[in-house]
Amino acid sequence: MKIVRAIKRGCKRSFICSVLTTNAGDNVFVFKTQFNFMSSILKNIMMIPFESSLVKSKFRGSLLGSLIGDCLGAPFEGDVVTSGDKIILQKYFDKLQDSNFKGPYKQYTDDTAMMKSVAKFIIDKPEPDYKFLAKLFATEYFSEPKRGYGQNVIEVFHKLKNSKFENIYKPATEQFFGSGSYGNGGAMRIAPVALFFHDNYKLMLEVAINTTKITHTNILGINGALLQCIAIHQALLMDPENKIDPIVFCKKLNEKMKELEKVDEDDEYDLDGTSKAYQDSLEIVEYLLEKEYNDGLDEEVIEKLGNDIRAHKSVPTAIYCFLRAQSEIPKIDTSNIFRRTIQYAISLGGDTDTIACMAGAIAGAYLGEDAISPYLAKQCEFYKEVLEMADNLFSSREGVSMKC
Ligand SMILES: [Mg+2]
Repeated sequence: MKIVRAIKRGCKRSFICSVLTTNAGDNVFVFKTQFNFMSSILKNIMMIPFESSLVKSKFRGSLLGSLIGDCLGAPFEGDVVTSGDKIILQKYFDKLQDSNFKGPYKQYTDDTAMMKSVAKFIIDKPEPDYKFLAKLFATEYFSEPKRGYGQNVIEVFHKLKNSKFENIYKPATEQFFGSGSYGNGGAMRIAPVALFFHDNYKLMLEVAINTTKITHTNILGINGALLQCIAIHQALLMDPENKIDPIVFCKKLNEKMKELEKVDEDDEYDLDGTSKAYQDSLEIVEYLLEKEYNDGLDEEVIEKLGNDIRAHKSVPTAIYCFLRAQSEIPKIDTSNIFRRTIQYAISLGGDTDTIACMAGAIAGAYLGEDAISPYLAKQCEFYKEVLEMADNLFSSREGVSMKC
């Protein structure tokens, strides 16, 4: 890679814009960053070696993947899926993907409702304004409360509103007698952060933490959101023409989690193992991926990785679904990796909307929009708006660049 043109420095809001190209000369992408010095940029930027049309398709794929997982997974939430149910699930997907099928929209839940707010927060104010985000979350909830929000997050919204958003992080820290929530609510809505800040890893992580803390302050809730964020990020940076090696993908994630879950030297009495929870889970993901698929494997996945609303019992599961779906899975009859990912995630039962939503966001970031059946997308409420949102997210990056 080489930088062929550094356009301007010292522009408004201290963004620096550059056009980068590969040595092959044909992969160009315009990026922005918030650092003042070229040296720190070179240290922090993550190069994305694709044409901007592919990057745009990946933005669309990730947000659409998230929506489809949420909408198609929602009717199965809380289910224990049997072998017979897997046949029903196959027929359900075949029907939805039939171009002649016309049915009512599948409705989205809190996962998409909150993701909408995260996207708007980034698009409207490129300088992160977390109070604005807290207000967006609350406004979205109070305008449509029946989207399947959990009771604890509802409590946070009421406290935020009643306190006039004075301290946006206080209500969440008071949850669960001060230990904070470790639900998967931070992870399920993180896709816009991973996409928009993909070329500045440090800033991406910082924004991911601050957006999560408004509702989830337990370290497991925060690290779960970080793991989902870096999984989407890692998938985004991969060429969809190249096959993913699931074990390598998993090992790379684990390397990054080692950095993020660094144990405090004073914390030698970490008896419940929470400080390394995600590294341990990723080891299990790897162990499960190495196994040949067999009839009992799904039960082992649920037992070892989980399928419930806790972040540490659902984010690694979503990653596993995406990676397992890179090759064929018995009883899931499709050659399409995206559909296989979503269908497999739902087949595990439990918190199906959120696990399929998270797996879908990763799959869509890797494959791009073209790999997603438009017939499947059209079954989902809000799919046109989600595509528009992805385009706005994409063009707001370029918009900032152009202002420089
Ligand atoms: Mg939900």
